[in-house]
Amino acid sequence: MLLRDAHNRIIRDLRISVTDRCNFRCFYCLPNGEPPLARKETILTFEEIEYICEIFVSLGIEKIRLTGGEPLLRRDIETLIEKIARLKVQSRLEISDFRLQISDDENSKSEISNPKLKDLALTTNGHSFPSRAANLKRAGLDRVTISLDSLRCERFREITGVDALENVLQSIDAAKRENLTPVKINCVIVRGRNDDEIVDFARFAREFDVKMRFIEFMPLDSGHGWTRESMVSAKEIREKINASFPLVLKEKSRGAETAWRYEFADGAAGEIGIVAPVTEMFCGACSRIRLTADGQIRTCLFSDVEHNLRDVVRGGASHAEIIEFIQSVVLKKEARHTINDAVFAPASRSMSFIGG
Ligand code: SAM
Ligand code: SF4
Repeated sequence: MLLRDAHNRIIRDLRISVTDRCNFRCFYCLPNGEPPLARKETILTFEEIEYICEIFVSLGIEKIRLTGGEPLLRRDIETLIEKIARLKVQSRLEISDFRLQISDDENSKSEISNPKLKDLALTTNGHSFPSRAANLKRAGLDRVTISLDSLRCERFREITGVDALENVLQSIDAAKRENLTPVKINCVIVRGRNDDEIVDFARFAREFDVKMRFIEFMPLDSGHGWTRESMVSAKEIREKINASFPLVLKEKSRGAETAWRYEFADGAAGEIGIVAPVTEMFCGACSRIRLTADGQIRTCLFSDVEHNLRDVVRGGASHAEIIEFIQSVVLKKEARHTINDAVFAPASRSMSFIGG
């Protein structure tokens, strides 16, 4: 059986925050260096995460992304990757464990008869990635997304609180060398902070053959500094790049992807992606669900409720009961976020906790 929500969206993509700790202090995420919210005993163990992943994969999840906080701060993350990567061969769950849940629909039967994970990715700030890339690949990681918000040393430090531009650039090389591709670069554009680098980043994508992902600033910063004026819209980003490097839209629809994807009209290498959750929302096609480091399911980045999967698992629930819980949670997935509504209230937890 697939995970289908009340708005007929199929959930294929699980994002797991493996820690809420971070060694950066990006002003748009975790500016004040708040201590981690989760206590050690509340954080899911590797065994729990592995078990939960198995269940999700048996329910049709095809993509898993490990994130945080900074996922490379979770000790021995390679071991977790190794465990989850086994699900690319086949879910170890016995089909009989959830056969009772299968509807009579023949299509759903064939869709789950051999559930497999197709894609295991990681999002990192790149600080300690270069020395870990080979082991991450060996453990079974497929690809990596690296965050990079400025190509200027001093500004990079102002944005993240850490003097690490060189490490991050080396991370991109290391990811390519280890074939953790396609390499995506996340860049949050904020007015007055780095919007004058949009064209530089487009040039960078061409020269280094990477997939840039320009992301609209979202009200998910722990410092609550987000304002509509500080956000640079997708339209503005597109226009700025087009004026220097004309773009061609790759596909008319974003599908379940969050980004509008463009190639360069002159055939240069690289790709431009624009992720516009605020001004061009994509909730109607959302296929994502999130698990926080302390085992709470969030059905949307902007949810105001969390669903305590950790306690269900630790309470000794059977496979069937856990599946039932997950299905009931998915049915509560919000139709859309409310950032543009008068009633909008920022999420209670920052991106570093929820997992971007
Ligand atoms: N620490 C890792 C990193 O920075 O890549 C992974 C976690 S981070 C929360 C994941 C992504 O969320 C990053 O690419 C970051 O730029 C993005 N992000 C964080 N806060 C954001 C915000 N307020 N608006 C938009 N994107 C944000
Ligand atoms: Fe840390 Fe990533 Fe948030 Fe920056 S964006 S503070 S690196 S979790």
